[in-house]
Amino acid sequence: MNRPELWIAAAAAAPLLSYFLGRLNRWAGLLAGAALFILSSLMLSREISAGAPYAALALWTAAALAHSVYLNGRAGSAPDRTRLEGALGRAAALEKELSDIKAETRQNAAGEKKSLAVYSAVKLLSETVEIQSAAKQLGKYLADYFETDEAALYMAEGSSGELELFAQAPKGASLPGLPELFAKTGGFPGQVTEVSGLVLAPVAAGGEPLGLVVLRAGTGGGAESAARFASEIAYALKRVMLFRQVEWLSLTDGLTGLWRRNALDEKVREEIRRASAFKTTMGFMIADIDHFKRLNDTYGHQFGDAVLRRVAQLLKAGVYETDFVGRYGGEEFGIVLPRADSAGLLRKAETMRARIEAETFSQGLEKVRLTISIGIAHFPRDGRTPEELIAGADKALYAAKESGRNKVVDFVAI
Ligand code: GH3
Ligand code: MG
Ligand code: MG
Repeated sequence: MNRPELWIAAAAAAPLLSYFLGRLNRWAGLLAGAALFILSSLMLSREISAGAPYAALALWTAAALAHSVYLNGRAGSAPDRTRLEGALGRAAALEKELSDIKAETRQNAAGEKKSLAVYSAVKLLSETVEIQSAAKQLGKYLADYFETDEAALYMAEGSSGELELFAQAPKGASLPGLPELFAKTGGFPGQVTEVSGLVLAPVAAGGEPLGLVVLRAGTGGGAESAARFASEIAYALKRVMLFRQVEWLSLTDGLTGLWRRNALDEKVREEIRRASAFKTTMGFMIADIDHFKRLNDTYGHQFGDAVLRRVAQLLKAGVYETDFVGRYGGEEFGIVLPRADSAGLLRKAETMRARIEAETFSQGLEKVRLTISIGIAHFPRDGRTPEELIAGADKALYAAKESGRNKVVDFVAI
């Protein structure tokens, strides 16, 4: 076949073939383009050697072919790939930076919430005079701080040092009791301890254990933040304990440890309210030591004090745990007996009178026997108000003294 126009077209197509095939595969494009060019050049060799237009065409085609190869080489060249990879890398770094900033913002917000909770807790404990409602509010701060309802704060009881639950997160934490935990830790932990999936953080000031923070491990930052909370509230908690101690001292009698008169009067009021509301009964007694002045004069005040302490012990031992025994005056005691019926009240008073009569009070070589007189009144039989009830018991006591002492007299019998 020798049709020059066809081969001219083929030669002209060689750079195009090289270029477009080269887009898919650079070397295949180059080979195909070069093969077509060489073939068509061979077929046109006569025309090329004969005249300038054909030689110019061949030259132009060769140049176009080289250019197409150059273009295809550039498209996938290394510098471009590096630039692309560089851009992708920067995008990834920016994305990571963004997510870091987001996380930090979240953490800052959580930290701020924690700071606010502990600040509020300290302020509350430092200012409160209403311990009961403060404990409730403190429970909310505990929940805020630890982001859990399984958190509690125990406080050391002033006199015994025993820990008692002071505040807990409002929905009621399902935490095990302290005896159970202390069995595992071997007592009050000296530092933050994890046991049974719980974090125990001791609250202490100047080496004195004041309380304990208990929370479910893995909540609200765990051990580290529990330790921080415990140390932040230590001195505020100490203040609450001192406050409670003062309150306790104002309610109890220093010599006998019994309730003071004002506290006992409050118990009378409370129990009357309760008995009225639940349609039950209650009893009230006043016990007075017979001829106590004589004992004081004969054996001295110190012995008198020891006798008062012992009588207080015996009276307390003679009634139920739920009854209230108070020191009403010098050698006078008041006893509130919720839900007592009148016959039982009389029996109990008689037992106590006999118990004191049977006791030998001794100090050194001194041995003394003494007796008490008791007046009793019953709610609602003898009066419906605290004043009526107390006056009734007092009148009965007076009657007991009048009729010879060492006696129990019921108000209803005078
Ligand atoms: P009565 O049988 O009529 O009750 O005679 P009494 O001597 O017990 O009663 P009175 O009210 O005349 O005296 C009470 C005495 O109790 C006066 C005081 O010496 C004594 N007393 C009051 N408080 C205390 C105290 O805290 N310690 C001591 N040691 N004695 C006290
Ligand atoms: Mg007396
Ligand atoms: Mg008296």
